[in-house]
Parts: sequence; C-alpha cells; structure tokens
Amino acid sequence: MKILISGGAGFLGFHLTKALLEEGEEITIVDDLSTAKYFDIRRDVEFIKKKVEEFDTDKKYDIVIHLAARPSPEDYIQHPVDTALSNSLGTYRMLEIARKSNARFVYTSSSEVYGSASIIPTPETYWGYVNPIGIRSCYDESKRFSEALIMAYYRQYKLDTRIQRPFNVYGPGLREDGTYGRVVSRFIYQALKGEDLTVFGDGNQTRAFLYISDWVEATKKLIYKDELAGEVFNIGSDKETKIVDLAKMIIKLTDSKSKIKFLPPRPDDPPRRAADITRAKEKLDWYPQVSLEEGLKLTINWFKGVLQ
Ligand code: UDP
Repeated sequence: MKILISGGAGFLGFHLTKALLEEGEEITIVDDLSTAKYFDIRRDVEFIKKKVEEFDTDKKYDIVIHLAARPSPEDYIQHPVDTALSNSLGTYRMLEIARKSNARFVYTSSSEVYGSASIIPTPETYWGYVNPIGIRSCYDESKRFSEALIMAYYRQYKLDTRIQRPFNVYGPGLREDGTYGRVVSRFIYQALKGEDLTVFGDGNQTRAFLYISDWVEATKKLIYKDELAGEVFNIGSDKETKIVDLAKMIIKLTDSKSKIKFLPPRPDDPPRRAADITRAKEKLDWYPQVSLEEGLKLTINWFKGVLQ
C-alpha cells in the first residue's frame, strides 16, 4: 500500500516507518526535521522536507498518518504558533489529502487532551479539563481541535478515520537534550553523565509510560484493522509511576552516583496521568507487553551506545 506519514522522521515516526517498511509498504514522509535528531530514513522512503501545514499533493494514498508534532512541553512552549498550526492547519491538510484519495486516516492525538484529569486511569469517555488559554494550550487545545475536525470529516464525508491518544511513549531514539528532552530520556542522560536528575516540583506527579514497541504494535492494529472508522483509543499504560520514583529507578538501573535535584514545578503540569485501556484491550486485542523496568533497560543500553 501507499502510505503518507507526516512527522515520519521523528521518534514515533521512525519506529513506525521501520515496521511498515518491514510489511512491504511504500512510504512517503513529510517532515520539516524541526525536532528529528537521531534517525535518518530518507534513503528508504520518498522524503519531502516541509512543514505539514504547508504541504499539499495530488498524489493518491491508501493510508494517511498524521504524526507531525512538537510533543515536548518546554519546546512547544517556545514555539506555540508552529505547535498550534501543525495540529490544526496540518491536520486539515492531511485530512484533505485523505479525502481526495479516499484513504484511511490515522491520527496521533495525545493524552494531553484530558488536561488535568479527575478520573485516573482516564477512559476515552472523559471530556478533559484543559485551560484554553494556558501555556500548554497551543498543544492540548490544538490536539482537541484536530479530534473535532477529524470527527467532522468522519461524519460529513464518511472518511475512515481513527484517532489514538498515546500516553508518554519512550524508548531508543527519544531526544534527551535541551528543551526537546522528555522525562525518561533526560533522566537517563543525566544519570549516565553523573549529573543531578532534575525533578520538577516535589516529584509526586505521575505518568504512565509506554515502551515504543508496544506503541508500534497498537498503531499497526489501528492502521490495518477493518471496521474502526470514527473510533478513538487510549494507547498507553495503566500503571502510574511517580516522577520521583522514576528518577530513583533510573539511578538504580544505571548504577549511577547522581543525586536528585528538586526544581520549581512546571506551570499547568498535569498532576496525574494514566490510561484506561479497556477499550484497546477489547477492540484491538492489544495490551502492553514490556514492563517499565525492561523498557528502561533497553533504552539505557541504547543511550550508552550513542553517548560513548
Ligand atoms: N519532568 C521532570 N524533570 C524533567 C522533565 C520532566 O520532573 O527534567 C516531569 C514533568 O514535570 C512532568 C513529567 O516529568 O510531570 C513528564 O514530563 P515530559 O516532559 O516527559 O512530558 P509530559 O508528560 O508533561 O507531556
């Protein structure tokens, strides 16, 4: 099949593209390389260097996957306009390409649509508690708008749309540097370099972490399974971990002498997050296979290789 992927050079996109190439698919990637760091897959695919919101084509595809985004809070807070546009105008552009091709449309939304949720683990039926003008709104509100626009295309044009809401996916290839770093890769980097691990706030905030191979498996099911039009799925873990406990685990697994340093909390940082994955279990026959400890060990080993 011919598959178009926006953001295919990033962390999620690289791993997904690799898996889809193994299935024998013909892949076109549109990516502006604004956040991609570790991977270069431009040799194996048709590669178009462009912002997704500026991309258009008359080519026809069987599947359109919209992944392009700036998911690191510190990064998107610095680039709020690009962030909001890739998940609004960018979603519109990709939906139009899908509509003209009559393609299946797969969107990577975010657990951020739930904001500071009051039900944990959070089911898909929860509507969210989000600050529309807050510092994170360029990201979470644009993801929410994307979902609304996608459902409009599903209802008005009968487009075969599928939405997933991933929860804190990690693994080899996740950036660790500067404003791009997410918590897992940043802590691993700090631990391996013997630097203090920077915990924001008291570290009692929680996240539920999903290893990349589990995310790829779920996403393949969303791409290939029939009769999922108009559906939305949490793709994450239901096991909540405190950030301070994650820091301790990483110090132990890396056998590091690093200490934990507590910094001021991030504004609007959701205090708790975990996925209710009952729906994914039932309809996708999917459940995470890799434990946090196993996934961290694999990620630490990969980082040891690249940081040498
Ligand atoms: N975090 C932290 N130290 C860091 C980076 C992140 O304590 O150096 C915390 C952050 O405050 C949040 C959690 O880890 O509660 C996850 O942050 P991340 O940037 O990975 O993404 P988020 O889940 O907030 O989108």
